[in-house]
Amino acid sequence: TKWVYTFGDGKAEGKADMKNLLGGKGANLAEMSNLGLPVPPGFTIPTEVCTYYYAHGQTYPAELKGDVEAALAQVGQLTGKSFGDAANPLLVSVRSGARASMPGMMDTVLNLGLNDETVEAVARLAGDRRFAYDSYRRFITMYSDVVLGVSHHHFEEILEHYKLQKGFNLDTELSADDWAVLVVKYKEKVAAELGKPFPQDPHEQLWGAIGAVFSSWMNARAITYRRLHSIPESWGTAVNVQSMVFGNMGETSATGVAFTRNPSTGENALYGEFLVNAQGEDVVAGIRTPQDLTEKARKAAGSDKPSMELALPEAFKEFERISHVLENHYRDMQDLEFTVEKGKLWMLQTRSGKRTAKAALRIAVELAAEGLITEEEAIGRVDPAALDQLLHPAIDPKAERKVIATGLPASPGAAAGAIVFTADEAEAAKEKGLKVILVRVETSPEDIHGMHAAQGILTARGGMTSHAAVVARGMGKPCVSGAGSLRIDAAAQTLTVNGQVFKKGDHITIDGGTGQVLSGEVAMLQPELSGEFATLMGWADKVRKLKVRANAETPADARMARSFGAEGIGLSRTEHMFFDAGRILAVREMILADDEAGRRAALAKLLPMQRDDFVELFEIMKGLPVTIRLLDPPLHEFLPHTAEETEEVAKSLGVDVERIERRNKELHEVNPMLGFRGCRIAIAFPEIAEMQARAIFEAAIIAAKTTGEAVVPEIMVPLIATKAEFDIVDAVIRKTADAVEKETGEKLTFQVGTMIELPRAALRAEEIAKGAEFFSFGTNDLTQTTFGVSRDDAGTFLGPYVQKGIIEVDPFVSIDVDGVGELVKIGVERGRKSRPDIKLGICGEHGGDPASVAFCHEVGLNYVSCSPFRVPIARLAAAQAAL
Ligand code: ADP
Ligand code: MG
Ligand code: MG
Repeated sequence: TKWVYTFGDGKAEGKADMKNLLGGKGANLAEMSNLGLPVPPGFTIPTEVCTYYYAHGQTYPAELKGDVEAALAQVGQLTGKSFGDAANPLLVSVRSGARASMPGMMDTVLNLGLNDETVEAVARLAGDRRFAYDSYRRFITMYSDVVLGVSHHHFEEILEHYKLQKGFNLDTELSADDWAVLVVKYKEKVAAELGKPFPQDPHEQLWGAIGAVFSSWMNARAITYRRLHSIPESWGTAVNVQSMVFGNMGETSATGVAFTRNPSTGENALYGEFLVNAQGEDVVAGIRTPQDLTEKARKAAGSDKPSMELALPEAFKEFERISHVLENHYRDMQDLEFTVEKGKLWMLQTRSGKRTAKAALRIAVELAAEGLITEEEAIGRVDPAALDQLLHPAIDPKAERKVIATGLPASPGAAAGAIVFTADEAEAAKEKGLKVILVRVETSPEDIHGMHAAQGILTARGGMTSHAAVVARGMGKPCVSGAGSLRIDAAAQTLTVNGQVFKKGDHITIDGGTGQVLSGEVAMLQPELSGEFATLMGWADKVRKLKVRANAETPADARMARSFGAEGIGLSRTEHMFFDAGRILAVREMILADDEAGRRAALAKLLPMQRDDFVELFEIMKGLPVTIRLLDPPLHEFLPHTAEETEEVAKSLGVDVERIERRNKELHEVNPMLGFRGCRIAIAFPEIAEMQARAIFEAAIIAAKTTGEAVVPEIMVPLIATKAEFDIVDAVIRKTADAVEKETGEKLTFQVGTMIELPRAALRAEEIAKGAEFFSFGTNDLTQTTFGVSRDDAGTFLGPYVQKGIIEVDPFVSIDVDGVGELVKIGVERGRKSRPDIKLGICGEHGGDPASVAFCHEVGLNYVSCSPFRVPIARLAAAQAAL
């Protein structure tokens, strides 16, 4: 086995695609060497040694020592120096580097090889004693901290004390002698702390550092990080030993970091910082304020410190050239680290740079436009989930955040407005043109109109799948849920947080992306959906096979869905229309009716309203498919629940309070999720389905005329378990169609299909498809019924399940491919057996989850349907699945 891989002088034993073996840093150092770029020579001890180390009681392979010696000799030859030599010493850095960049690993040690003897040689050779002792004291600090476990605070204290004593303010005021004095003090401190002297033997230093890198693979920070990011322990880390170049050799030396493009905006311009006469991490450590790289950036920042372009023009030009070479070579934006030693540029690291969603989009589109990557590669470069950030207003990163509480980031986007405590207040405020945040302990279906009217929703209770969270995500409204420190006093109309009292009308801002609640109205940035966004979406649309529809029932949602590129409506939940102020009374009247005649009377009032709803939807969708689901939730959800409300309703309807209470009791269920809902309602009260079907058909006829497009409604029966259930409701719908055709003399085209959301329906799909013309997999209910877990109650145990690794992801967020997915597969196969051309879709939260969309592509569904705001995410995810 090969235990050492050298690099430098225009060649290397490794290359970029050897990351598994050499780690990211080592592989890219090798690649840069191969490209002929100026990389200080060195070598990488591969991850296999780490694996060996832990498999063999923390010992090294027998040949390693010799191999390292040989590699050191080779580096010495290239640099004209010799490791450990008292007259002409080679100094090195020891750098850890796993496959994936991993915080928690050992920090880099610079200037290794310095001791009381070699420091003098360095001083002589460089003709600069101050530089030599500055390097030595840095080395002692770093080595003691990361290898010997003597915290750097000790050394900082000694330095501060010394400066105070001497009346110095800045480190730059210290002379060579000052540093020499400090080096003595530092060594004394180490000896006092450890009971033995600071190691003077360079070889001992080197093996100490190498051992520290391998040990750090198993330190608590690294273990935690690996667990959180699912990085296997077996990967191990590599160690890079590299000859030093010095950014601290005076005014023509410097160190810096850069991105080849702006990582927050994506702008195609070098972006970064550097420091003159500095080493390594000084730039990020914030000891001195770094300077801009380019004149342009300096001017934009209004800085009076010279840019690298001005201060080190030759090195800058070379760096600019190399940044292009690297970007072209890796075909991606790069994150670079460099050092300038006496005017000469050295490259110390390159890797693909982290970026915001906005930058990712711009960079991908521009790289494709420049011909560096293909359109398909560009599609793959943007994380669909990250698009979420771009589709909602965001808090201006420059704005001040006065955080008053933190809850769960339940629905992304930021919103600001005046506090209101009830849905009615929210609606009233909206009518007056005011912006409000609806603040509730938790929300219920009766709050929907207020949630619609509000800019955002804040709740004190409830998890990521609480009513507030689910409904808000569906509406694309920002929501922070479960902010437990909020005390809401409905009577006093106040919101108290940690002693701070907010009244109704006071302004707050919520950030649904972070879960923060902020006081006051914070500045925001609006989403930008044209430009690169539109371009990338266009490319995605060309390659994807899945259609993307939206779940929408209000005209606003439907329009939004269209603007986001939805190709129809996959789920229109008619019950949402029933909560509207104008109609909830008629709905309640219908529920309270004693007999069919009474129900029909109330339904007759609802018919024209429901018809108008559908006309509007059909008109907005202009001939695109629209799937309408018959009434689904349990009826008691529509009845008033508080005493005051009950009284009010009784008054408006002219009935006794007792009657409402009695009906409420009759309809009460221990477990509504598995109760009297779905097609069970249509079977018990066919007149409800009849009214809805009639409204749909009459609307289709009207909309076909106004739009000039054929309207082919898809009527969907919810929650069936048996074909017999479907047949009964199907018959009601078809009978209604016949009646409407007779009355109007118009010919109707429509489809009747069903949701597959109970395991039995998936299993019996072959039989059901003999009647149903399409299936829509309702994976929310299917997940509930497959797991036997109620989504509304899952908060208390699903979270811990994920933490303990019992399940990998919340199955309500991302489809459980193994279980629920298998039922979907069965439904697809069996459904197609009896109806080969059956239209298959999915609706529910999963339709907008990238991993679930990929699954839908794989099982060959025709479309996914998701909330309007997730349509672009689904479009991109569907394209990636098709690549
Ligand atoms: P990290 O992974 O934390 O970025 P690095 O190993 O990249 O750690 O080291 C941090 C910094 O130390 C580098 O950016 C560079 O400035 C400096 N450095 C590392 N090796 C050398 C070297 N051989 N010569 C000069 N500076 C170095
Ligand atoms: Mg680095
Ligand atoms: Mg359902």
